[in-house]
This record gives sequence, C-alpha cells and structure tokens, in this order.
Amino acid sequence: MAFDALNTVAVSRTEKYDPTELCGIFLRHFELLGIDKSTFEGKKVVIKPNLVMKKSPEYAATIAPAVLDGLLSVLDIFGCKPTVAESPGGVYSASRLEGIYKVCGITDVCKKHGTMLNLDTTWKRMSSESGRLVKSFNIITPIADADVIIDLCKLKTHSLTVMSGAVKNLFGTIPGIEKFEAHASYPEYSDFAAMLCDLCFMLCESKTVIAVTDAIIGMEGSGPTAGEPRKFGFVSTSVNPFASDLLSAKVLGFDDKVTTLSESINRGLCPKKAEELVILGDEAPSVENVKVAEGSNSSMKALKFFSRGKIGRMFMPKPQVNVDICRGCGDCVHSCPQKTIDLVKTGHGSKAKINPSNCIRCYCCQELCPFLAINIKRNFFTKAISKIK
Ligand code: SF4
Ligand code: SF4
Repeated sequence: MAFDALNTVAVSRTEKYDPTELCGIFLRHFELLGIDKSTFEGKKVVIKPNLVMKKSPEYAATIAPAVLDGLLSVLDIFGCKPTVAESPGGVYSASRLEGIYKVCGITDVCKKHGTMLNLDTTWKRMSSESGRLVKSFNIITPIADADVIIDLCKLKTHSLTVMSGAVKNLFGTIPGIEKFEAHASYPEYSDFAAMLCDLCFMLCESKTVIAVTDAIIGMEGSGPTAGEPRKFGFVSTSVNPFASDLLSAKVLGFDDKVTTLSESINRGLCPKKAEELVILGDEAPSVENVKVAEGSNSSMKALKFFSRGKIGRMFMPKPQVNVDICRGCGDCVHSCPQKTIDLVKTGHGSKAKINPSNCIRCYCCQELCPFLAINIKRNFFTKAISKIK
C-alpha cells in the first residue's frame, strides 16, 4: 500500500478507552481504508507509539495503553505479530526503554498479546533524494527494517510545532540524543518543520505508514509533556500522516498555526484545507478554546517578526527554571542541544540554571523535565505581538 494521495481519514468519535470498543473501531477504519490481512501478511510490522517520556497514562503525554490494546487485537485477528518500538527523548538505552514501556503501561498490554517490545538500540542510515532540507537520517533499526509502520500518535499541543500529531511522532524514530542534535542543526522553526516533513515523507516513500491518532483524551496548554489532559473525543486512522494532522489541526482550531502543516501543504503532501479531505466514518468533532502551549501561543505571530537568527531568537519565549520545583535531577542538562544548562549548588540542593544567550528556544528541556519545573515565559515583545489579531 503506497502513500495515499487521496487524503482519506477514517474518524470515530468516542469518549472511552475501552480496548474492545477500540478493536471494533480500528477494524472498521481498516475496512474503510482498504487495509486488510494482505497489508500485513509476510511483512515486518512495527508500531511506533508516542512514549516521549516516563509518564503514566493519566498525564496524557503518551498514548493510552487501551488504544495499543485495541490495535493489537486487530492485528491478532489478521495473524500479524508486530514489534513495538520507540526512541523517546533522552538517552537511548535498553534499561531506559524498559522503564518507559513499564511506566507508560505498555509492557502489560504487550505481554497480554505476546507482542515484542524493542530493546535493540542500534540504528541504520536511511536516505531519500526527495528530502528538501535533509536527505538522510539515522533511524532506529526496527523502523528502518520495517515494511509497515503504524504511527500511533497522541494528539497534543507543542511548544515548538504548535501541535504534535502523526508527523511529529515520527521524530521518535531518530535514535536518542541525536534528536537534540537535530534541534541544534535546525534552530529556525521553519527548518525544523521542513526536517520533520523530510523524515516523515522518507518513511512514507519506502514503507506503508498507517497513522493512528489517539485523541480521545489529548493534551492542551504546555504540551507536549507538561500540559493538561483535555477531552477531544475521537480516534482517527489514515495512510497519509500529513492528511491525518490536517484533520487533527482542524478539530483543535489550529488550522493555520501548525508549522509542519504549513510545510506539508506547501509541498502538496495534503490539501490546503481540511474541508478537502475525504472523511470516512463519523463527522470529526470541533473542540473549542483549546489552550496552546505558552511558547507557541506567541511564536506563530512573533515568528514572522523575530525568529530569524540568533538575535531574533532572543525575543522568543524563553525557558525558565522554577527552582522551588527543580530537584536537580540533571535530565534537562543532558537534553539541551546547546549545552547551555548547568546544575548549580544552592542552599536547597542542586538546581538547574539556564544560560539564555546560547539558548535556541527548542524547548527540549521543558519537554523532558520529569517534574514540570521548566516553564516557557513570554517577554514583552511576544506578548504584544500575540495580541495582534
Ligand atoms: S529543571 Fe527539571 S530536569 Fe532540570 S534538573 Fe530540575 S528537575 Fe531535573
Ligand atoms: S535551554 Fe532548553 S530551550 Fe534552550 S537550547 Fe537548551 S534545551 Fe533548548
């Protein structure tokens, strides 16, 4: 099954994380999209869930185990034995993967279905001449070797790209801390979005990519890891991850804000408007007043004015450590592509300290702080710009 130029998305509205109901939903979606046993027969199938960090499912930073459970039940019916593989933020090691799978509630679901959880931390080089900005990436081995990738994303707000969906989820196919290097290499937000589109399209060109979006409970506010859970009330399936994101952005009211979508539309990877999509199944919901991430709230408007170059980025919202919450774990120090965070000793133990002059506003530190101790703060300029209608 090739990349779908028809821009079809199957949608089901539901408010429950019920694995049995979800199995029925995905069976129906697959039928509507022409995905059947033959799509998986004799193929290496890998599910790539969004498990960005070690957080239990109620935080809505990671996919709900029930969604994986429902999907695996469908694959059981097809006699398919997939592998589940993720490269979360931070160090890519077997012990860290094991911890994340367990806390995210994935280990038990995989045990129930006899599904293999990937612990292999090797990677391979993949290339594509279609890349506009980046023509080759290091990709974790199970994904590089896969024939079929199920891109199982969580619908969330994102401080850098405004929304995290099917395209952004595939950033987690790059091994471990190489993701931080990608942030450092493409500090301009538009370049970062172009890189994400190159990566997603490279995978779509050589494999069947099935985007499944868990948007029953998503995240609003300080996404992708520090926001609040919010009921969005749907799941969707598409063989076009770009089209899948176009629909998700429409539901959240983010139509023209998502950086990866602007890039996808410019490249003709999805239609210009969600109204041009072919929606099968239920009518997509419309969720009102979804709070965007603090960084992205102003960044989309400020971007055009300020974000070019190092001086420009100084005007963008900046990460700020709340020392009362910081526990000095050092995760942000290791996650910073610019090596601009230090741990300093204080009367209350070690605390993170950010040197803002080298900061490229990638917000990796905020994304990966396990204690939500880093906030994104707007300055006078971005606050003023964000008020411009
Ligand atoms: S800011 Fe967060 S990640 Fe950084 S040291 Fe403090 S608690 Fe750890
Ligand atoms: S301090 Fe945070 S936002 Fe700034 S470069 Fe480092 S990780 Fe990125």
